Formats: sequence, C-alpha cells, structure tokens
Amino acid sequence: MRNVALTVLALSLAACATAPAPPESGRFGALRVCPGSVANAPATDRSGRVRGFEPVARVGGASLLRAPVEGCVSSGFGPRRGGASSFHEGLDLYTGAPRTIVAGGDGVVDFVGSQRGYGRTIVIRHNRNIKTRYAHLSSYGRNIREGARVRRGDPIGRTGDSGNATAVHLHYEFLIRGRPVNPLTFGD
Ligand SMILES: [Zn+2]
Repeated sequence: MRNVALTVLALSLAACATAPAPPESGRFGALRVCPGSVANAPATDRSGRVRGFEPVARVGGASLLRAPVEGCVSSGFGPRRGGASSFHEGLDLYTGAPRTIVAGGDGVVDFVGSQRGYGRTIVIRHNRNIKTRYAHLSSYGRNIREGARVRRGDPIGRTGDSGNATAVHLHYEFLIRGRPVNPLTFGD
C-alpha cells in the first residue's frame, strides 16, 4: 500500500514539475462567446467555441495571442449599433472575477497608466509598427513599467472594470501603426 501511495505521489510531483503548456496549446487554446446577447459576436460551432479560432496571430513579424486572458467574448470588434461614434476598437473578454492577463507577444512596455475611458491601461510595443493595448485593469503586474521587456505569456496585470466599463473584462486591441484591427481575425 505504502509503495502505491508513494508512486502516486511521485507521479503527481512529476506532473507538477512539468512546465505548463504554452498558451497556444492549452490554457488559451479554445475561446467561447459569452452567453446572452453579444455585439459583433464571432461565429461559433455547436459547443459555443469560436469557429476557426487560432490562438496565435502572425502580424507583421510579431506573434501575438488573440486572447491573452482566460475569458469569454463579451463584445467583438467593429461597429456597434446606436451611434456613429460607437465603433468598438477591440475585443472584450469577460472574466467574471479579476484574472491574470498575459503579454500578447514579446515586446517592450510602451505605456502604463490611466487613459480616458480605458481606465488602467498597458500598451506593449512589439516592433516599430505593432502594439497591443490592455484596458480596464484592476491592477498592474509587478515590474510592469515603461521600458520593461516582456515575453509572450508573461503576466502583466489583472482584469477589472476601471474606466468606462460595466463588468470585469479585458478590452484588448491590436494596433497597426496606431490603427485598430480585429484581434480575432487579423494576420495569419
Ligand atoms: Zn471593449
């Protein structure tokens, strides 16, 4: 009996010692649309998963996570009904409680602070032309300051509802030369 227990313990320790699966193969590998009415919702399969979802986008020399937090899509990219100015420039990922957001790609922290409407915000520069923006955070990760280098998958902060937000979620943008594009579909 004792040997069996020890074997089980050894196996579980071995499992714990294994490096966590990279985001593209596990943790953020499937993406769902939140229940209820979702503006600009992407197409889903029968189980509610975003159809054709590829976790990593290749965008102008950068490899970027399309969804850098575990959550469901609560609003897609694009025009929203109800006003000429209501173009949604990012992807909203609802997380319920605050959850860890990771860097979408390798890069340098370009901005940390409050931005109007966005609340607590981080911008990461991935190369000369490409940035990602993370908005409505509740807190910033340790060592996340302007000029800090980050790798794809590094924790950078936690979701919240700071700024103009009604629920705890991440507002995530892909910015190509400052112009927002759809994080779910842009690139290869
Ligand atoms: Zn948003």
